[in-house]
Amino acid sequence: MFTKNYDVVVCGAGVAGVAAALASARLGKKTAIIEKTVYTGGLATSGLIYIYLPLCDGNGTQVSFGITEELLKASILYGPGEIPANWKNQKNAEEQKRYRTIFAPASFTLAIDELLLEAKVDIWYDTLVCATQVDKDKRLTGVEVENKSGRGLITAKSFVDATGDSDLAHMAELPCHTNDNALANWVLEYNDRTNWPMSARTHGVCIHMGGTNVDSKAGYRGINGASVSRFLLQGRERYLKDLKAAYASGKHERDTRFPLQLPAMAQFRMTRCIPAHYMLKDNQDWTPFEDSIGLAADWRKSGYVWEIPFSSMTPVGLKNMVAAGRCTCSEPDAWEVTRVIPVAGLTGEAAGTAAALAADKSISPDELKITELQDTLRKNGNKIHFDEVGLDPAKFKKK
Ligand SMILES: Cc1cc2nc3c(=O)[nH]c(=O)nc-3n(C[C@H](O)[C@H](O)[C@H](O)COP(=O)(O)OP(=O)(O)OC[C@H]3O[C@@H](n4cnc5c(N)ncnc54)[C@H](O)[C@@H]3O)c2cc1C
Repeated sequence: MFTKNYDVVVCGAGVAGVAAALASARLGKKTAIIEKTVYTGGLATSGLIYIYLPLCDGNGTQVSFGITEELLKASILYGPGEIPANWKNQKNAEEQKRYRTIFAPASFTLAIDELLLEAKVDIWYDTLVCATQVDKDKRLTGVEVENKSGRGLITAKSFVDATGDSDLAHMAELPCHTNDNALANWVLEYNDRTNWPMSARTHGVCIHMGGTNVDSKAGYRGINGASVSRFLLQGRERYLKDLKAAYASGKHERDTRFPLQLPAMAQFRMTRCIPAHYMLKDNQDWTPFEDSIGLAADWRKSGYVWEIPFSSMTPVGLKNMVAAGRCTCSEPDAWEVTRVIPVAGLTGEAAGTAAALAADKSISPDELKITELQDTLRKNGNKIHFDEVGLDPAKFKKK
């Protein structure tokens, strides 16, 4: 068994993990990011989810800043996609007119790799986190990993669970919350007659969203091996059915529409989230939290903004760990807001910052003074509370 030690170890290199690793390394901590696939970006790249949802409220006010904004810009550095020029002048804008972009998934991976290397993050690709080491005081002290070198133990002062599925929390035997998922199978395809947005700039290459949002009651939870395989196979079956129908109708032939790449990870939206000190509740938009780490816009409707409490990122029953992205603790409708790419970037930066500050003091992230975390985030360009972006919750009628 090989061993290695860091200040901060981030497990999972989705957008949340990437933001966490960048934040930690930029604060001078020796940081590693461990990723089971061979891509950074997670669902946004290997999962082919190519829409970076809005950083603004739909009424011209930007609410999310910092690394998540940096990553949005990075996603279009080596490929197509535009930020709508007029987003600041919109009122009650639909999602496509807000501060958001589409991007080419592979271009985003290349840009992320560059950022991580620049920040001197150690990237462990093709490495599965397969067990946790927890001491008698319920402190996470190490993760066991497996890759081409065999089994290894990676120790650190603080850890970030950015696995999307709360794998660290689950391996440490915490009772995670779960949720049902709709079947999804977005496929990168060549299609010379598509209307999907990527096609206009990329000569027929598009993402086909076939099989999305069906069978939402089918019990796809993504929390055991069999259900992941069933989800993947049924998603592919749906896609193939669409393709065969397009050929049979004469609308397409083999060389006018065909798959270029299937998603390299299962497209589950919400699998497991950690049992945290606080669970963000449905309808808690416009709720001020003393321990807010930043603001998130509801991508589904203009004019709804959320403060994200740090206590929804720290687990009950496990020290030295903080969660980011899809792993943070929310009720199902609030989870619809916290699980998406811009908010993964936001909670990722907060998690990496908290992990780094805690490592400095040899304490657990949940023992940090919240004002220290907030001040560090502010120093790095983030806004923490509604009034910092000129918004007043009292002015917005509750539903
Ligand atoms: C069908 C669908 C449509 C969506 N549409 C949109 C959209 O239009 N816009 C938007 O903004 N968001 C959308 N989302 C949500 C968004 O893509 C993700 O929720 C977001 O990217 C989550 O980021 P994350 O970093 O939290 O998790 P993930 O992207 O899931 O990243 C987790 C990473 O951890 C790695 N990992 C997991 N377990 C281990 C382990 N044990 N060891 C090592 N590595 C591990 C994974 O390989 C992955 O790279 C959609 C999601 C789905 C499924």
